[in-house]
Amino acid sequence: MPAPSALTTPVSGWGRTAPTTAHVFRPRTYEEAAEAVRDCGGRGAIARGLGRAYGDAAQNAGGSVLDMTGLDRIHEIDAINGLVVCDAGVSLHRLMQVLLPLGWFVPVSPGTRYVTVGGAIGTDIHGKNHHLSGSFTRHVRAIELLTADGGTRLVTPEDEPELFWATAGGMGLTGVVLAATIQLLPVETSLMSVDTERATDLDDLMARLTAGDHRYRYSVAWIDLLARGAKTGRAVLTRGDHAPLGALPPRARRAPLDFRPGRLPGAPNFVPEGLLGRGSVGLFNALWYHKAPRERHGELQKISTFFHPLDGVPDWNRIYGRSGFVQYQFVVPNGQESALRRIVERISRRGIPSFLAVLKRFGEADPGWLSFPMAGWTLALDIPATMPGLATFLDVLDDEVAAADGRVYLAKDSRLRPDLLPGMYPRLDAFRRLRAELDPRGVFTSDLARRLAL
Ligand SMILES: Cc1cc2nc3c(=O)[nH]c(=O)nc-3n(C[C@H](O)[C@H](O)[C@H](O)COP(=O)(O)OP(=O)(O)OC[C@H]3O[C@@H](n4cnc5c(N)ncnc54)[C@H](O)[C@@H]3O)c2cc1C
Repeated sequence: MPAPSALTTPVSGWGRTAPTTAHVFRPRTYEEAAEAVRDCGGRGAIARGLGRAYGDAAQNAGGSVLDMTGLDRIHEIDAINGLVVCDAGVSLHRLMQVLLPLGWFVPVSPGTRYVTVGGAIGTDIHGKNHHLSGSFTRHVRAIELLTADGGTRLVTPEDEPELFWATAGGMGLTGVVLAATIQLLPVETSLMSVDTERATDLDDLMARLTAGDHRYRYSVAWIDLLARGAKTGRAVLTRGDHAPLGALPPRARRAPLDFRPGRLPGAPNFVPEGLLGRGSVGLFNALWYHKAPRERHGELQKISTFFHPLDGVPDWNRIYGRSGFVQYQFVVPNGQESALRRIVERISRRGIPSFLAVLKRFGEADPGWLSFPMAGWTLALDIPATMPGLATFLDVLDDEVAAADGRVYLAKDSRLRPDLLPGMYPRLDAFRRLRAELDPRGVFTSDLARRLAL
């Protein structure tokens, strides 16, 4: 087998803040992947999917990065029981294209379809259905894992629970996922039935989420974080489920499982700094809030509109200009609503020019050792990296989150202080012990792993 060729190139996360140069391999076979791991040298290796983690999780300065998108075969579909076996480099977009016509949907989808199965397991992604369905890896029945010695093993939650749950959300540090078996969700149509309502402030929003989430499979709120005073935390709440066949108008019933997401022109290469100031973003947020219906029920929306509105604009991350942006996502447990209020107030007082932020209520925590969700409230927002005093401001928020027994999401992080990590992720020591046993030479590593001593 010829050795896979490597390209020395800068690699960054979706936020584009801290690129580092690595040898990037794109294996086309499992053997090529194994060879790249065996030959990776002293700076180690890390798997990479579609690079949608915002920070430095899928980069490895001076070492190897395995771009897994060349391993993108769908091996087997059990259309009766809703199981798919596929390579880790297959994207959720591709799975939707293939599986929707058969009446099956991915069990958990994040805010973009352009993530790979390996990335979904590596960060144990959550979706708008976390309160009901938990995170992605709960629906994974088996993983084929390439380990530090270059061998592969089939890991299931029954046979090797420790390795399985350390790999779920393990940021690629237990090995390279080569393939996975995923349990799917049956659907009758490719449309969503959506209820929309406006919440006038944060308390109103939290009350609506608490009272009604159990009635919906999917739920999410888009908050205007630039609104201040009595309007702080005003939001548009959208909740829904897959539409049953009977809910479709007669014309749509002829092709109920059609999946044709639209695409707009891409974002310009560079946007002048200053365009994304408080004034322009505030105006956008206000327009968006008032444009939403006060209350609307049963609207039929495409899957792409409901789940992945940003995917319609290719390379939208460029709108933040050359300096990129930081995505900040944290969760605080139920009972810590006052901490959430304080943080939202701080953000809106500070006037961070963030386009609509996202608030969601998580269900029970997942078994993954470093999985992010816990039963409580999670908020995610984009912040331009050029914001003055950003590092100090986020450090203060981190302290508030830590004091409330919450945590920040590693898939989005690029700047957390390492000393806060053990409190946020209580299974971190077990994770480190397992890695030390499994990978004594520290083959698997990344910029994130070095920065946070994972
Ligand atoms: C617009 C947008 C919306 C998003 N919404 C959400 C959301 O709602 N919920 C959510 O949870 N996340 C969300 N994310 C984050 C995204 O889902 C995760 O970062 C996901 O991991 C990206 O997948 P990827 O294939 O691009 O992985 P990458 O970004 O390339 O890698 C992410 C991590 O997974 C590891 N990894 C990748 N492939 C493998 C493999 N084959 N084996 C082992 N480890 C691997 C990497 O080493 C790295 O640690 C969003 C991101 C964007 C850009």
